[in-house]
Amino acid sequence: MRSNPRDFERRRSADLQAVLEGASRPVWRVLNRALLGREVSEAEGTQLFSVTDAADRAAIYATADALRQTANGDRVTFVVNRNINFTNVCYMGCRFCGFARRKDEAGAEWLSPEEVAQRAEEAWARGATEVCIQGGLHPKLPGHAYRDILLAIKARLPGMHIHAFSPFEIWYGARKSKMPYAAFLADLKACGLGSMPGTAAEILDTEVRQVLTRDKLSADAWEEIIRTAHGVGIPTTATIMYGHVDAPHHWAAHIARLRDIQRDTGGFTELVPLSFVHTESPLYTQSPETVRPGPTAQEVDLMHAVSRIMLHGFIDNIQVSWTKLGAARAQDMLTRGVNDLGGTLMNESISRAAGADHGQEITASELCRMIRAAGRVPVRRNTVYDVIDVYDDHDPAELAPLVARARDPLDFLAMFPEPAP
Ligand code: SF4
Repeated sequence: MRSNPRDFERRRSADLQAVLEGASRPVWRVLNRALLGREVSEAEGTQLFSVTDAADRAAIYATADALRQTANGDRVTFVVNRNINFTNVCYMGCRFCGFARRKDEAGAEWLSPEEVAQRAEEAWARGATEVCIQGGLHPKLPGHAYRDILLAIKARLPGMHIHAFSPFEIWYGARKSKMPYAAFLADLKACGLGSMPGTAAEILDTEVRQVLTRDKLSADAWEEIIRTAHGVGIPTTATIMYGHVDAPHHWAAHIARLRDIQRDTGGFTELVPLSFVHTESPLYTQSPETVRPGPTAQEVDLMHAVSRIMLHGFIDNIQVSWTKLGAARAQDMLTRGVNDLGGTLMNESISRAAGADHGQEITASELCRMIRAAGRVPVRRNTVYDVIDVYDDHDPAELAPLVARARDPLDFLAMFPEPAP
């Protein structure tokens, strides 16, 4: 729901006003309109994504932070979940992907539905309310593989929320099953699918997708599957993967397109900006002269902040990916319009395969420490943002990570004083 413009006026602090007044006139005009509750156009979004002046950037960050405060208050949310990638075998050949393996290649993996359910049970025993399940498009995967996984988990854990299957997997499963998307998705919902990750969006632009994925899943097909999922009552996240062969006008068009979908369906739970990890990505290693090695630090800041500004009143949850940025930068994003730190994950492997080295898991108590060190209130949520626990005067149970870690992901916190009680 969009906010009353008078509320913005009342809440605008003297600090925010001073930062806004330092911005250039064109940027000030856009931000002022955003703070009054007006929609930021695609052209204005491009303008904000393109700023280079430090005073303009400061005004954008302050505006995003003010809108975050209006939408979410001081609460920062997270979910206790486990990531399960049931196969990394895939022949789609997306050029940015460091995760996929050929079926006879070393490290190729394909878990049975029972093995997936076993991992879900381990997660449940560690307090998880969600399993996030995605896999490669294995050439031998039957169309019923997706429902088999859901049924195997639900047989053991009726209360577990299953957040699973990207639009690319839905495209693949529906083709293999010779079913229209709506019937395929309705069947998955009946088998226990609770929500879907809105991954495989990359950048919703045909030319960019041609470079990234040879446009195997077109932007229109991605949108059709997402709209169909929302139509049958399956909420999804929204994502953008940036920092490769893209530019500010692609980002603004992508965010505006997500906003248009949300205006019609209301089915997005959150936006998760995903920075391109280049280290093990063929897209970069084969063409380093034409592909950027991920976004710059300023682009990361602007992506979260401008997304918050463009989506205000449409998608209230902006999530930072700690697996892409690491815990320290993820904490920084809490001042760039972010209100959600995503999941504990337990077994992150897609970013790791692409070369990220931020670990596979952050525990709930570590997320609480990060949030408190930023002066905010940690809140555990479920997948669809219902509150499970507010950690204002107590802590979550202390659990050792599922997989031993080489280093403490929160070692950066030692640089900060303990927050005042
Ligand atoms: S991104 Fe997904 S669909 Fe593309 S190659 Fe990698 S695993 Fe396959």
